[in-house]
Amino acid sequence: MPAAPPPAKRSWWLEEALAHPEFVGPETPPLRGDTNADVVILGGGYTGMWTAHFLKEREPSLDVALLEADICGGGPSGRNGGFCDGWWGHIGDMVKTYGEADAIELLMTCGRSPAEIGAWCERHGVDAWWRPGGDLAVATSPNAEGRWEGTLEVARALGVQDEYAVLSPDEVQQRCASPMFGGGMFIADASTVHPARLVRGLRRVLLEQGVRIFERTPVTRFKAGRPAVAETPGGNVHAGEAVIGLGAWATWWKAFKPKLTVRGSYMVVTAPTPEKLEEINWTGGEAVRDFRSSIHYLRTTADGRIAFGLGGLQPDLARSIDPRYDYDERFAARVAADLVKMFPTFRDVPIERGWGGPINVSGFTMPFFGSMGTAGNVHYGLGYTGNGTGPSHLGGKILAALALHADDGFTRLAVVSREPKRFPPEPIRSPGMLVANAAIRRKDDLEDAGRRVDPLTGFVARMPRRLGFSLGPR
Ligand SMILES: Cc1cc2nc3c(=O)[nH]c(=O)nc-3n(C[C@H](O)[C@H](O)[C@H](O)COP(=O)(O)OP(=O)(O)OC[C@H]3O[C@@H](n4cnc5c(N)ncnc54)[C@H](O)[C@@H]3O)c2cc1C
Repeated sequence: MPAAPPPAKRSWWLEEALAHPEFVGPETPPLRGDTNADVVILGGGYTGMWTAHFLKEREPSLDVALLEADICGGGPSGRNGGFCDGWWGHIGDMVKTYGEADAIELLMTCGRSPAEIGAWCERHGVDAWWRPGGDLAVATSPNAEGRWEGTLEVARALGVQDEYAVLSPDEVQQRCASPMFGGGMFIADASTVHPARLVRGLRRVLLEQGVRIFERTPVTRFKAGRPAVAETPGGNVHAGEAVIGLGAWATWWKAFKPKLTVRGSYMVVTAPTPEKLEEINWTGGEAVRDFRSSIHYLRTTADGRIAFGLGGLQPDLARSIDPRYDYDERFAARVAADLVKMFPTFRDVPIERGWGGPINVSGFTMPFFGSMGTAGNVHYGLGYTGNGTGPSHLGGKILAALALHADDGFTRLAVVSREPKRFPPEPIRSPGMLVANAAIRRKDDLEDAGRRVDPLTGFVARMPRRLGFSLGPR
């Protein structure tokens, strides 16, 4: 296995964005003293920030205070793969969860987000490398050939089969050549972004809109009620409405712990090498993924790199979100090795950085939104399960509508108030997940190596589905 690439300070994306003054912006010091606000938002990732943005669009006079423990985008929103798509890849599980009519409504509504994000960047002068290159899902083993058939069958039943195109192995190679790739499925309605430029661009626009942002301001205690009170080391915010956009960190909340579990996703990035991308025909900006449950996701960057990730990893028992989620040497080395295996001609291309982040996973792989507290004034949007870059834009619209107590098309979507199946409590959960995740990865690796999956590995890998979760292989 090649040596692990060095850790990025936060992620390579944030290093790149923060090298440009427009993505650094003015200082927003921590909260000092008590303050009142109409709405307090917990978390400065896409969810919290899109919510603040749409609140100010709908009600410009609203006083919105946003509290972020780190810097805006310091969490997964500034570290992710930048696959910016809707839910077309989830159609099968969505129909099972929501039924056909609601699934179609969600697919259509969220399907608008990637293009709307691109248009938003254009309108606000945010150069977030938005590129509508589509989503290319490829088979990396004979077992994975045709795995798109289930998706297409559901799509045909719903009359939306035109959203998908099946590609022959030759057609896949023409878009992105790898000795590991067979046939595949292409979804045109998908894009990529530079995740950190997007989140830092959002920060700039929020400041222009008059949102009060307090960075390095962790919420240490929260009291529901009217007003809701968010306590921080430097002072408290009293607000009529509160929005929780804490991603994986919401698991410290008793109410959310049973509905969310945390897994790690890890990425590496190569040095720029546009000529090598041309050699493998990968010049169309496609976001590429495979059909593994422990998914590989890979894309190119505007400066000619490959950014390559692997999901479904868990740093041992890790019951809290510790620094191993930011960087884990074993996982960084593994991801670097997988990149070279997929693209052997990149063997000598330096891999410049490695990093990771926590994924908040819901049992039905879809996010859930709702309101709670006796006053119904605490609103949440959680559980994107590794697919929040595009959907959090819709999430922001939903949460803004919930915080305004608007009864509209957004608050009536089926992702609102539909709760996921609960995960088992500790001490069963972490060891159970560790064993199931290891089996899932082993099954995927055996299949990619063209080897037989032994019955025990197959049985354990399928356990989450047997228990009623939409996670892992069928
Ligand atoms: C390595 C990696 C790759 C990914 N790749 C993709 C991809 O390609 N496409 C995709 O769609 N999704 C991807 N995801 C998932 C995507 O990043 C998330 O779904 C999305 O960023 C969720 O945004 P969020 O605002 O809900 O949460 P976050 O971005 O997690 O924001 C939550 C914020 O809350 C802050 N916070 C935590 N505790 C406190 C506290 N006590 N007080 C105040 N603030 C607090 C955190 O610092 C953080 O900034 C990836 C994730 C990772 C980790």
